[in-house]
Amino acid sequence: MPQTAEKAGRERPSVAIIGAGPAGLMAAEALAGKGIAVIVYDAMPSPARKFLMAGRGGLNITHSEPLDRFLTRYGAAAPVVAPWIRRFTPDDLRAWVHGLGIETFVGSSGRVFPMGLKASPLLRAWLRRLDGLGVTLKARHRWTG
Ligand SMILES: Cc1cc2nc3c(=O)[nH]c(=O)nc-3n(C[C@H](O)[C@H](O)[C@H](O)COP(=O)(O)OP(=O)(O)OC[C@H]3O[C@@H](n4cnc5c(N)ncnc54)[C@H](O)[C@@H]3O)c2cc1C
Repeated sequence: MPQTAEKAGRERPSVAIIGAGPAGLMAAEALAGKGIAVIVYDAMPSPARKFLMAGRGGLNITHSEPLDRFLTRYGAAAPVVAPWIRRFTPDDLRAWVHGLGIETFVGSSGRVFPMGLKASPLLRAWLRRLDGLGVTLKARHRWTG
């Protein structure tokens, strides 16, 4: 490897994420999108198994109610989570799902679902995107620290 590329490789910031559930995968996407080298480790043989289980009964991704009302659902935690949610709102989440090529719809209760209600197409598209961003997934790797 040319010396400059080797140096650049060494200097590129890298992050290890423990857990390939939705939280870990979203962190991986955010970091990789900023040029950080990301490796996601998961103890299980495949990623996001609980997320896939969530899709069995119909995956509810968010709610369509106005943001101020939505934030009240967090009760005593609302002051803590509100700034995070204002930076990535339920509408942003829907747009993110659409960006993965999956349409969404609002049910009669106001809850938002991916078309088809399943988590698996969404996860497949998400993992393809992460792969494209250079994220490495290491299954069967349990953090014991
Ligand atoms: C039946 C069911 C239905 C649900 N329905 C919905 C729904 O409709 N809508 C919704 O928004 N949510 C739903 N949920 C909740 C949703 O699945 C969780 O909120 C979501 O999976 C949490 O994501 P997470 O990344 O925080 O944690 P997890 O999904 O639990 O991911 C954590 C990951 O970390 C890994 N891990 C843990 N410890 C270690 C370790 N020491 N070393 C390495 N890896 C480790 C685990 O294997 C796992 O893959 C449902 C859940 C269930 C069970």
